[in-house]
Amino acid sequence: MAVQIDVLLVGQGLASSLLAWELLQRQLRILVVDDGAENASQVAAGLINPVTGQRLVKQVDVETLLPAAMHVYRQLGTQFGQAFYVQMPMLKILRTDKELGIAERRLAQPDYRDYLTGLTPAPAEIDAPYGVLQQRQTGYLRTEALLSQLRDFLRNKNCYRRNTLQYGEINLEPALRWHDIYPRHIVFCEGYQAVNNPWFKYLPFQLAKGEILGCESRQDIQQQILNYGHWLIPLGAGRFKTGATFDTNQLDNLPTQAAKTALLASLRAVCPQQQPPDVYQRRAGIRPATLDKQPFIGTHPLHPQLHIFNGFGAKGSLAIPWYAARFADYLQQHAGLPPGCDIRRYDKTYFPA
Ligand SMILES: Cc1cc2nc3c(=O)[nH]c(=O)nc-3n(C[C@H](O)[C@H](O)[C@H](O)COP(=O)(O)OP(=O)(O)OC[C@H]3O[C@@H](n4cnc5c(N)ncnc54)[C@H](O)[C@@H]3O)c2cc1C
Repeated sequence: MAVQIDVLLVGQGLASSLLAWELLQRQLRILVVDDGAENASQVAAGLINPVTGQRLVKQVDVETLLPAAMHVYRQLGTQFGQAFYVQMPMLKILRTDKELGIAERRLAQPDYRDYLTGLTPAPAEIDAPYGVLQQRQTGYLRTEALLSQLRDFLRNKNCYRRNTLQYGEINLEPALRWHDIYPRHIVFCEGYQAVNNPWFKYLPFQLAKGEILGCESRQDIQQQILNYGHWLIPLGAGRFKTGATFDTNQLDNLPTQAAKTALLASLRAVCPQQQPPDVYQRRAGIRPATLDKQPFIGTHPLHPQLHIFNGFGAKGSLAIPWYAARFADYLQQHAGLPPGCDIRRYDKTYFPA
């Protein structure tokens, strides 16, 4: 029997899940189809960190993105009766005199005041001769728990199918169709696998593999995120996560011994007295990062019913909620897309002169 819907979403990572949630709030009829494979969103640490990098730069548009993210994660927490976002201060280990100087300058800047608390000496167990910068409005999203709840929620509403969508199964004419589904729009949210999408593979992704370790320690771990180039997120009961590596060459989902060695060495350098932890989990995923570091959102240049919502790179937790609302506005034709994310910036790649 033919099923008429508004939007078919391909993938059930964080991008598709939060967009599906947004579209359902607006009473649209949707279906999410996902192949069920472990994805980057499940592997991700889910960190939200407004001020990043050695130069301690504020994330672009953080003043807009962060409140939107907090609003959606609170709303989802209320809906499902559990907290998905864990707010936790971050200690940024300063590694050079230059980094200390940058931290001092940022602390004097009024527009950084909401995100930086101050400089402190390092806790005894941490080797940080240049001190530590305390950051606030940091934390992490429990992405795996959130995706699992949203999957069950979608399933209960008959809005979810476990299936690998083959691109050749999509008919564009005489009506848009996939199997028995007749959607008005298809939105592709396949994460890194978008590089195989026949309609959108012209977009310049710059994929990056990342690995994370789940560890257990017999020593006390303070309830603060440590950031020392890599990071450590305490999970309670002696458990923590540490990561993530960044590799643009070996693009697969397999954990490696090299990454494990590098992450443990980096942890040992900053916590030299810590006994080596037990590693109970090793996971790898591929970040759907883009050449110009902006998301890929919008409509195919020739097929107005095909869209993409992707390219959130290493900051999906912060960025996806706000962009999901903008994209939903756009699909409902209330508004244009923010130009920075609109894939029309690559029209010249699609239509070379
Ligand atoms: C190691 C690591 C650490 C990270 N740390 C952070 C972090 O701390 N903070 C942060 O914000 N971000 C982090 N990220 C990035 C974050 O994971 C991404 O921004 C975000 O999860 C991307 O979500 P997505 O939905 O676009 O892609 P994905 O999560 O990859 O989801 C895509 C989904 O589409 C499905 N799919 C693809 N093709 C098909 C098809 N043909 N048919 C059916 N289903 C299909 C896939 O199976 C998958 O389920 C990290 C990523 C990695 C790998």
